[in-house]
Amino acid sequence: MTEALGRALVFVAALLAASAHAEPSPVTTPGKLPKDVVPRHYALRIVPAAGYDRFEGRAIIDIEVRKPVPAIVLNAADLSFASARLRTSAGEEIDLGASFDAKRETATLAPASGLVAAGDYRLQIDYAGRIGRHPQGFYQLRYKLREQGRLVEKIMLATKMEPVHARKLFPAWDEPAFRATFDISTVVDASLAAVSNMPAAATTPLAGGKKEVTFSRSVSMPTYLVALFIGEMDKLEDGVDGVQLGIYTAKGKSEQARFAMAATKQIVRYFNGYFGVRYALPKLDQLALPGGSVGAMENWGAIAYNEGVFLYDPAEGSLRQRQRVYGITAHEIAHQWFGNLVTMAWWDNLWLNEGFASWMATRTAERFHPEWGAAKRSALFKDVAMAEDGRRMTHPIQTPVADDARAMDVFDSITYGKGEAFIRMLEGYLGERVFREGIRRYMREHAFSNTTTADLWRHLAQASGRDIQTLAAGWTEQPGYPVVKLTQRCDGDRAVITLAQERFTLNDPAAPSLAWNIPVILADARDARRTVLLGPAPAEVRFGSCGPVRANVGNAGYFRVQYDDRNLQRIGRTLAQLDALERLRLLQDTFALMQAGRLDSARYLALVDGLGNEADRSVWEHVIGALRFLRELVDAPEALADFDRYSVQVLRKPFARIGWEARPKESGDAAILRGALIEALGRSGDAAVIREARERFLGRDAKPIEATIRPAVLNVVGRYADDKSFEALLGLLRNVTQIGYKLEVQSALRQLADPKLAQRWLELLLTTDELAPDEAVANLSRLGGDSGQIELGWRFTLAHLSEIYAKASPRGRVYVLPGAAAPFADAARAEELIALTKTNLDASALYQAEKTADWIRLKAAVKAREMRRVLDWARARTAPG
Ligand SMILES: [Zn+2]
Repeated sequence: MTEALGRALVFVAALLAASAHAEPSPVTTPGKLPKDVVPRHYALRIVPAAGYDRFEGRAIIDIEVRKPVPAIVLNAADLSFASARLRTSAGEEIDLGASFDAKRETATLAPASGLVAAGDYRLQIDYAGRIGRHPQGFYQLRYKLREQGRLVEKIMLATKMEPVHARKLFPAWDEPAFRATFDISTVVDASLAAVSNMPAAATTPLAGGKKEVTFSRSVSMPTYLVALFIGEMDKLEDGVDGVQLGIYTAKGKSEQARFAMAATKQIVRYFNGYFGVRYALPKLDQLALPGGSVGAMENWGAIAYNEGVFLYDPAEGSLRQRQRVYGITAHEIAHQWFGNLVTMAWWDNLWLNEGFASWMATRTAERFHPEWGAAKRSALFKDVAMAEDGRRMTHPIQTPVADDARAMDVFDSITYGKGEAFIRMLEGYLGERVFREGIRRYMREHAFSNTTTADLWRHLAQASGRDIQTLAAGWTEQPGYPVVKLTQRCDGDRAVITLAQERFTLNDPAAPSLAWNIPVILADARDARRTVLLGPAPAEVRFGSCGPVRANVGNAGYFRVQYDDRNLQRIGRTLAQLDALERLRLLQDTFALMQAGRLDSARYLALVDGLGNEADRSVWEHVIGALRFLRELVDAPEALADFDRYSVQVLRKPFARIGWEARPKESGDAAILRGALIEALGRSGDAAVIREARERFLGRDAKPIEATIRPAVLNVVGRYADDKSFEALLGLLRNVTQIGYKLEVQSALRQLADPKLAQRWLELLLTTDELAPDEAVANLSRLGGDSGQIELGWRFTLAHLSEIYAKASPRGRVYVLPGAAAPFADAARAEELIALTKTNLDASALYQAEKTADWIRLKAAVKAREMRRVLDWARARTAPG
């Protein structure tokens, strides 16, 4: 799964329980359900009612009762049972009474008396369920299309099961280790398309303009991958290596799926070769949903995307969108192996799915589109994970998940980004060929079953002949990461380098000290390289010349490097000649060392001021992020004006070279950097940029805004909107049928700096149906941070908390207060957030609140330490004359 990580991302809970290396069968994996009864096969028949707000279902489940039990316990949420019957293999029928536990989302089915004896049974449940509007379980997606020039409202039905929502569509053993096969059928209007994991095996016309679609039997799979989509759709067809490929879109949009289709063919063929096990199903469909959560879900054979991240309009030609589509497609298709074919036994090993899919996506983009700089994108993402992993509320990659109500909490940047970074580091250390051989063995041996991390280490150890468990344990079972301290002295002409490690934290000086096995790649001024496996004891390395020596060359390591002052100055002088990835790494490390209080901000700002002719997109994207972090620490309006003036001065240099108009033969990165700079300059109040953005917006009918910079232009227009441009943005939101464009307009409306307009938009979000409920809630809680109207956003949230909770999904409530509080940099707000969460929600919500509180406290600490210095620096460099 990929979700836009738009929320406050902070971390919690060093739950340092030793990870269990148990055999991954349902008998021993964690989970809530008893393991005495296991499902083997489900036959599901789903009949949506007219109006689509509910459905009727029949589930016939073949089960094995392993020992006599008083009752059968399985998951069910928001389902009502009409009947539940058990049929023995001898044909005897037993009626079962059902009782429900709404909090645990279970149903207990018991015979009137006695026990259910061990043996094989067929369990039949007739039931009904709800079709909600949140993208969880079986849900309805409302969207608009233009038909004969008129806007028409449409509804599509869709599923999103991961992690724990399959139980809203059918009674299920809804935990990943309970694999089973599925026969799925559905009754729908004859004119509609119906898509599930497997191809349709039969379509039977029924009375009343209906049809019944029966899909082929699935392979053995976990419940969270079950999929069903129903609606008016167009289909683009193709094929690769004997697999039928289909992309379903809303009517009239299939041309925009051609880029994704071409990418899919390339990616599937590459993965068939890489994994040494071919894609397992006869078909691979992908759906471009006109809405739903912003991201994608890897349902086996029926991957679902929000069309905003999957469709690409060649007439617009946005390179940014091509990169996004390619990356997310590679991620989801990688899951067809990592996750679907071989599944983590429990959510504590989710990183086996997400870390690998993220790593594979980067690897695939690097291989087929080296000009896109996917490794640099990945280094930026790694930095997000390290920012989360360096805080007090971090957790190991393999993290205990006590129960499935908390499963969603592990979908964070540590699982995705640290997972990816660690795999990259491990592959670099073992070598590409050996690593791939280990992966192939793992896929072959565990196809159609479940694993833990220990299984992967075993296969990599066999392939490499090395003790992977010992090397890897520190990275996957311990929280956090190290800083490598590099000191250099000269022995005649030779450099003597001493390396030593300690745990790096941003705001947790009392954290337990830990050590790692760190593959450190070093290079000297002539780029002679050495790799050292640094353990707990310091290591000494010698180089032939005594110039600058760099560590973590290539930026593939998941650790920080702190140089002695002299070496840092030497490296600083050679920076311009190095690869951009090296400059990015030095900036990232220096900024993090500043946040941690190990260096002062002047060190970092000196590097920024020295960037001179820097042209690299990723370097500037990092600087823009760092300036935004610092900007959030400034309260007073005059101070903010001074800081903004400095930011404008820094960012105008690269923008002067790039300009507003695409130049012949410019690099793709230049086009994308243009957008990032326009947005950042707009935020800092650059009058010329604001004026130009407005003019382009006003003139968009005569000359469309170039698609790569359009999100930035809209954000600047939104930030400085007056009544008229606010109405124009609202008009776009209501009339645009392209979801990607709509998401850009939503973002623009979150920037509204005018308090009157911000208030008006918040009220519209709350009281109207402008956006789907979950989208409305996400926009509500993010407006304060995006617009800078933090206090206004927070007060509005508190004043309307019960209405916002009513609009949110039960799980979505957990993010409302943290989202609104995240932009604060005042420790008292952290306390307020915790107290309010305790008052308003149950204990399972506290984790997200604690994470955000930790983030706020970190900012407060940096603010107390560095704000004076940052402002002095900014003022000294922008003072007139
Ligand atoms: Zn994923």
